[in-house]
Amino acid sequence: MDKQVQETFRPRIEARLAEIAATLASTKEDTEAIAPDVAIGRLSRLDSMQMQQMALGMQSRMREEVKQLKEALRRIDFGRYGTCDLCRQDIPMERLEFQPDATVCVACLRRASRR
Ligand SMILES: [Zn+2]
Repeated sequence: MDKQVQETFRPRIEARLAEIAATLASTKEDTEAIAPDVAIGRLSRLDSMQMQQMALGMQSRMREEVKQLKEALRRIDFGRYGTCDLCRQDIPMERLEFQPDATVCVACLRRASRR
């Protein structure tokens, strides 16, 4: 894939990273330990623990995405972005627009998931 074309994905990836950073910052307090005096009844404590679990799940998914996106930026740096890891063909632009951190093409993904 052309280096120039690869570079067009950099701002998109950086925008997504900024979006995730903002979300992580805003949900930070949701996952901080629940003080016993915060929840008055047993039910509300249960509620806040459930909320905390949900927030933790979302945060770990986002951290995983951050890892993938940073890896994608490195691929741009090395000029390897947009090339399938398995068959070395260009990954179609539509796929990269949908999933900018994709490292394999759809055909290879299907082959891999059938194994
Ligand atoms: Zn492939």
